[in-house]
Amino acid sequence: MSDMRRAAQEGSPAGTSVEREAATRPPGDPPPRLTIGVDVGGTKTAAGVVDEHGAIIRDARRETPATSPSEIIAAIGDLVEELRGDHEVEAIGVGAAGFVDAKRSTVLFAPNLAWREEPLRAEIEKLTGLSTVVENDANAAAWAEFQFGAAHDVDDMILLTVGTGLGGGLVLAGELYRGAFGVGGEVGHLRAVPNGHLCGCGNKGCWEQYASGSALVREAREFARSSPPQASCLLELAGGRADRIEGPMVTKAAADGDGPSRELLEDLGRWLGEGIATLAAVLDPAVVVVGGGVSEAGDLLLDPARKAFARQLTARGHRPVLEIRRAMLGNEAGIIGAADLARRR
Ligand SMILES: [Zn+2]
Repeated sequence: MSDMRRAAQEGSPAGTSVEREAATRPPGDPPPRLTIGVDVGGTKTAAGVVDEHGAIIRDARRETPATSPSEIIAAIGDLVEELRGDHEVEAIGVGAAGFVDAKRSTVLFAPNLAWREEPLRAEIEKLTGLSTVVENDANAAAWAEFQFGAAHDVDDMILLTVGTGLGGGLVLAGELYRGAFGVGGEVGHLRAVPNGHLCGCGNKGCWEQYASGSALVREAREFARSSPPQASCLLELAGGRADRIEGPMVTKAAADGDGPSRELLEDLGRWLGEGIATLAAVLDPAVVVVGGGVSEAGDLLLDPARKAFARQLTARGHRPVLEIRRAMLGNEAGIIGAADLARRR
């Protein structure tokens, strides 16, 4: 991200929109084909006007009224109206944290939002008069990294978003892979450990329970409770309370050279790398992009993941080896990907 764009983003308080720097185009060129991408998260909804190069030229955000289906839709409508004021847009793409049907129109289920069988495409089209597609948020982010980000140079890639949970999106042979019913790519719920930690999905031992920000926090707190002297660096960041340790504190302590915090990230990286080897056995991607909040740890997370992956890979030494790369588009990937998918509909 350019400094200008970062400044624009950081200076944007909730509920206002910000004009980004405009790409200069020679006089006489046709105007850029603009679409709006919307990223509906559990707490915040962000939207942007995006050009065909994946650049966000104006953006806006709101709190997500997560408990009311109709209010979430109204909030999306408000954001679209605000953004359309100064730009002619041709379509809307909405990325939502949930299961979206194969027609890309209905949110079947969203764990952190009130949507159940919500006909989102029809509602947004009725409200705005613009053609709309609905996409799973991790799919949208994967598409953005594939088109414009860390995997722009390959045809087969997997995005893993290591945040509160572990999300996934697959691009295979240049196409977003959704599965027969639209709900494929939920890699976080592959079983990693028989009878392991209970997952929010109701099963035990899902990969997400070992390779996510929540897993990092669980392990860090447990460590601090059982070995306070060794966890002094983490405890200091958390005001002395093990139950107040959060993921970014582990990343900060590790970056400052704290041994135990580095080990916590190494453990997480190992789970990540071993799971990537399993995915590689089935899908054989050229690149796995790692995004989400925990990817802020950079190589402190990715180097252990690369090592574990190399140890676990089937037929290692006799096959080309995929690359594990850090995501490039940060939390704008959802907006950029949804907008681009809307343009391609
Ligand atoms: Zn699960």
